[in-house]
Formats: sequence, structure tokens, C-alpha cells
Amino acid sequence: MAARTATLPPKILSIVKGVLGDPTTPVPLHAPLFVGREWDYVKDCLDSTWVSSVGRYVERFETMLEQQCGVARAIAVVNGTCALHMALLLAGVEPGEEVLVPALTFVATANAVHHAGATPHFVDCEARSLGLDADKLEAHLAATVVRTERGCCNKVTGRRIRVVVPMHVFGHPADLDALSAVCLRWGLTLVEDAAEALGSRYKDRPVGGHGRLAILSFNGNKIVTCGGGGAILTNDQALADKAKHLTTTAKVPHPWRFEHDAPGFNYRLPNLNAALGCAQMECLSGFVDSKRALARRYQDAFDGLDGLTVLREPAYGQSNYWLNALLLDRPDPVLRDTILEQANAAGFGFRPAWTLLHRLPMYAACPRGDLSTADALEGRIINLPSGAAL
Ligand SMILES: *Cc1c(COP(=O)(O)O)cnc(C)c1O
Repeated sequence: MAARTATLPPKILSIVKGVLGDPTTPVPLHAPLFVGREWDYVKDCLDSTWVSSVGRYVERFETMLEQQCGVARAIAVVNGTCALHMALLLAGVEPGEEVLVPALTFVATANAVHHAGATPHFVDCEARSLGLDADKLEAHLAATVVRTERGCCNKVTGRRIRVVVPMHVFGHPADLDALSAVCLRWGLTLVEDAAEALGSRYKDRPVGGHGRLAILSFNGNKIVTCGGGGAILTNDQALADKAKHLTTTAKVPHPWRFEHDAPGFNYRLPNLNAALGCAQMECLSGFVDSKRALARRYQDAFDGLDGLTVLREPAYGQSNYWLNALLLDRPDPVLRDTILEQANAAGFGFRPAWTLLHRLPMYAACPRGDLSTADALEGRIINLPSGAAL
């Protein structure tokens, strides 16, 4: 163990230097890249004074997302967390319920559940895609849920469960067919957290169109950024209309009257951010190509090094390789942290996986299934710099 901790980190560093070159300035985990018409579109917004909640870039951005994701409707909002909050409300989540979410995800997934007044209920992932494990989900439901006329209820807490939120980790598509089948058997609604996976495909279709609803994020670290932003995706026109209405203060259309028919949200994406998003969307396929090429360079460079592998996309789909990940052969937090220390000291923005959500103080008491795979993966994952400019 100790020998590995001494010898492996310098080897990893020299391989990454071989792929990325010697850094003259720190190489972040993920930097945005503005090489398209960003300046033109943003300037056009300023020149027109249409910078805020009304303007033609919002509609154009939504249309681009619909085309990219193969869905009937996209509703642009201020960020991915708000998109998920809204998607959960539209899926019917009510205060006092539980929502099934992975333990291995960014904290926003659970925060959105909390903001909907519900409790995250953590389930495990599979090592192949890092996404929710359908078989384990099925077994966990069989062990912990009773079916009543109100739907599924947690036997222990008595709380209703009606939504499952798979997440496509680092851009790798989760096994959506298997998860959809479980949802169908148990009468659960699938809401995809596709925040990291714009441009990824499950089998022959883009992710984001497989559940009743899905969400995207356009935060600064995502593959496409609006500065900040998010979107709700759905094929259901009525749900989409409701999403638009509720995210725009539930205003009843009228040329001058302020009439609102529900406690709405001010979640609409400003035109200025949408302008940036339109320019970025024009670059998406190029970004995906560069990121897939970088993934291949990492895979080739690390090939044959004992003790770890580079995570590859699952055979059933195509990843946008939002973040590349090294996987240590076995959990070893000491080795992992030594690698992280040395790489960051050398200017490479390596990062660990997120702290598993059931270990964060505010979610520590939440219900959960067996999380042994996620637990083991947490001690194995190291993310490598993955920006599209590399
Ligand atoms: C980025 C992200 C979100 C949403 O993030 P915002 O910063 O609110 O746009 C949600 N879920 C996952 C998995 C993410 O990575």
C-alpha cells in the first residue's frame, strides 16, 4: 500500500503532463470556452436593451435545446437546481413525500428535493456507468415499499414515494431502459437529472427525453454555459405550458394587467444569458468531439498502468465525457488524496468525487438503501481536467 502511494502519484502526473503538456498557468477541472458568436449575441442583447426576462434569444435557445435533445419542449430557467425543483413539482411531488435519488451525485439533486418539501431517499449506483443501479433499485423497492391505493409508500416512514431521479454521472448515460422498466413496474415517475450530459446519447437517442421530465444545467463548469442557467425538458405539452407559466410568476397573459393565478416562481432565464447559451449551443458538437478526443488521449496514455483505469462510456451509449475520471482498482482514500495533493500542487485541477450525499450533515438522517457500490467508488474516483479547450 505504502509503496503504491509513493510510486503511483508521480507516474500519474507524468502521464497527465504527457497528455496536456507542462502547465504554465493552472489547468482547471473544467473551463468554459468562448470561440463562437458569444460576443456578437451578447452585444446584440445590450444594443437592443432586451437583457432581462423577455427577448428572442430565450425562445431561440429553447428551440435549440428541443432539437438537440429530441424533445417537444424545453423551458429555460435560471439554473439547474431551479429546473429540478420545478420538474419535481410538475411530477407531482408533494411536501412530506420521499424522492429516490442517487447518493453519488452533486448536492443540487438532493437540494431540489428538499426545496420541494420532500426528503431525499438515497439509492446505490452501478460501477459500469456510475448511474443508478436498476437491479438494486428494484430489490430495495421490494424490501422497503408497500403499494397502497395512493401509490408506493415507504414501509418504515409511511411517506409516499412517486419519483425517481437518475443522474448521468460525468456525462455517462445511466441505463435508462432498465430504470424505466423498474419505474413502470412500481408506478413511479422518472425525472432525468441530465445536468452533466447535454450531448450524450442513450442507445440511439439523446439523454433528456426518456422520462416524463428531465433537466439540464448551464452553469459555468458544464459543457455549455449561459454563465448560469438551466432547462426543463418534456414531451408533454400541458406540463411544458405549466412549467412556463409557473416559472414566469404565473402571470395570466394580458397586454397591461397584472393578473397571477398561482404562487409562481421567478425562475425564467434572462435574455442575456440565453444569448450566451445560443452561441454556446452552436459549438456543442465541436465541444463533444474535443472532449471525446481528450478522453481517448487519456485512455491511451493510461493504458497499461497498473492500479487504475480511465472510466469509459458504457457500451450501450455515448458519453459527452463532461469529466474524465480515473478509477483506482480499489478504494484507497490515502492514495487518492496523495494524487490530488500532488496534482493540484503541480497546477492540475484534479478533483475527488462529491462527498456522498448521505454523509452531508443535512441529509445524514435521510432514508437510504444499501450504498456499498457508491461507498467503494468514492474512494476510487479522481476527476481529471476535462475542458473542451484541452
Ligand atoms: C450542475 C448540476 C446541477 C444543477 O446545477 P446548477 O448549478 O443549479 O445549474 C444539478 N445536478 C447535477 C448532477 C449537476 O451536476
